[in-house]
Amino acid sequence: MAEATVVLNDLDFAGDDRVVPFQVEGLDVRGRAVQLGPLLNAILGRHEYPAPVARLLAEAIVLTALLGTSLKFDGKFTVQTKGDGPVDLLVADFSTPDALRAYARYDEEALAEAIEEDRTFPPDLLGNGVLAFTIDQGRGMQPYQGIVPLDGSSLEEIADVYFRQSEQIPTRVRLGVAELFDRDAEGRPRHNWRAGGLVAQFLPQAPERMRQPDLHGGDGDERELDFTEDDAWTEARTLVETIDTDELTDPQVPIERLLFRLFHERGVRVYEPQTVYDRCSCSREKIKSVLNGFTAEEIEASQEDGHIAVTCEFCSTTYRYEAAEFAEA
Ligand SMILES: [Zn+2]
Repeated sequence: MAEATVVLNDLDFAGDDRVVPFQVEGLDVRGRAVQLGPLLNAILGRHEYPAPVARLLAEAIVLTALLGTSLKFDGKFTVQTKGDGPVDLLVADFSTPDALRAYARYDEEALAEAIEEDRTFPPDLLGNGVLAFTIDQGRGMQPYQGIVPLDGSSLEEIADVYFRQSEQIPTRVRLGVAELFDRDAEGRPRHNWRAGGLVAQFLPQAPERMRQPDLHGGDGDERELDFTEDDAWTEARTLVETIDTDELTDPQVPIERLLFRLFHERGVRVYEPQTVYDRCSCSREKIKSVLNGFTAEEIEASQEDGHIAVTCEFCSTTYRYEAAEFAEA
């Protein structure tokens, strides 16, 4: 993290697609906040997802931007859901230093039915399953994966549960997605996606404040732990819960203004923002190395007129190969 900090109001606003780390010293809170515009439009526009799918994926993208940019080493952070609902797969990943990509997989028929029946809340679309966070440092190191059930909650609630249970860090995540309809300079109707989000975590210097146990008196080891929440965290969490989805996505309200509104009485500071880009890590060589692992039968089954075409699910780029390149393998 950059050493130089600036006090709010002395600052040019970070703008879209830039993750703003922040700290609220008076509440022992650290976090990140972001508004996504062009990046989100590019990813969602490329796939032309039906609106309910686009909204869900947008939430996963915001979450990935917020959490991925906190990696302290080179690597990849992935958010993935797998469920039995109409949207059976959401994948969004962030590769250091700044690349984000994502895609959703859905069953057209089941989705159409869900939309028809007005069952388009996230739990309806995702169904039962799991959400996984994966941190991969590469270089032959075992990836770390944390898994939480999709239990009928929103992605922000599921993320909170993950941090509480797996990381023991009191966390509050907020995510918002909006479709904006306006007109361009020539008066033609225009449609844009916007999303925003914020993650706040309680990270006091003194670890015992993470949870304040009420220790009953008495001898020996016998004690009853009654976990009560730290007052500072209660205040921070309550403030974060006052955020309206509209505030997160409003193009007229820079994210720093929102941070100021929430925390100015407690001394909020922001750090150097981190830009995220719509950028895929696929390449001709990477896909070729996957095809190199295919058997002759699999190559035969994949080819058409002597050619094999592979389309990247993330960025929709299609790579074409001569089947003969692999046939003798
Ligand atoms: Zn790609």
